[in-house]
Amino acid sequence: MSDFPRETAAPAVSERRPSPVRGLIFEVREFAVHDGPGVRTSVFFKGCPLRCRWCHNPESQAPTPELLLNRSRCSGCSVCEKICDAALSPDRRSKCVACGRCVDRCPQGARNLCGWETDVPTLVERLLRQRDLFELSGGGVTLTGGEPLFQPEFAVELARALRREQIHVALETCGFASSNVFDALTAEVDLVYFDVKILDPARSRRWLGVDSAPILANLRRLCASGRPFVVRTPLIPGVNDSAEERAAVERLVDGVPSAFGVEFLPYNVAAGAKYALLDRDFDPDLP
Ligand code: SF4
Ligand code: SF4
Repeated sequence: MSDFPRETAAPAVSERRPSPVRGLIFEVREFAVHDGPGVRTSVFFKGCPLRCRWCHNPESQAPTPELLLNRSRCSGCSVCEKICDAALSPDRRSKCVACGRCVDRCPQGARNLCGWETDVPTLVERLLRQRDLFELSGGGVTLTGGEPLFQPEFAVELARALRREQIHVALETCGFASSNVFDALTAEVDLVYFDVKILDPARSRRWLGVDSAPILANLRRLCASGRPFVVRTPLIPGVNDSAEERAAVERLVDGVPSAFGVEFLPYNVAAGAKYALLDRDFDPDLP
């Protein structure tokens, strides 16, 4: 992974000015080693336009904060119910506004808020704590999700601010966005991981909830841009794991000089583990 070309970022100028642009993220994961070259910090954006039937991060989908409730930890003490009607009943889940009042009061630590708003200077300051490790390992920051393209203004400003600090920035994306948004963000990063899941438009609508056409159009733009990228394809049993489908994905980037290959990723057998925290069923209905 260390063979990726590294662009020279603009000169570091410590200009972390206040900005009105705010974003919603749900995790900042340090010491990530599978999200790009070197040791990285991954920033998980909350909100995604896709609804992949097998999604293993259901808490990443909604573009709003959400309450996660681990019912296996609950002792039934009723403290949260005294605070709020929506606290425990799955039927009342839709009434939860993720205010967080119940979270700290739970003696079992069964309740968590997923998603918080931040601004770019605050987040950059936190990310720069790992600057030495990034420099030693050839790492950097990876914007992932959820979907960074779903919060383009925030993502662009964050990438710009990091590169001003000479931090390598990678973007992991499903590619579903207008061409303007796609171009604006990919122009601000050093490396793109582009998910290609299903090529056929009708099958894409069935399994991902969106048409594949804009995704593939953006992949073509990326190929033409010369920006370094890697295609990533999660192999879903019976959906896209045939030899024909793999070969079709490989053909998309065959001969493209800036393409650093196709990574086929195994299906996550624990994909359904988090749905219970949201009182949602996991039913991918795979063939
Ligand atoms: S406060 Fe926590 S332990 Fe008590 S009923 Fe609510 S979720 Fe369960
Ligand atoms: S997060 Fe707020 S609205 Fe949601 S259950 Fe707790 S107290 Fe009620």
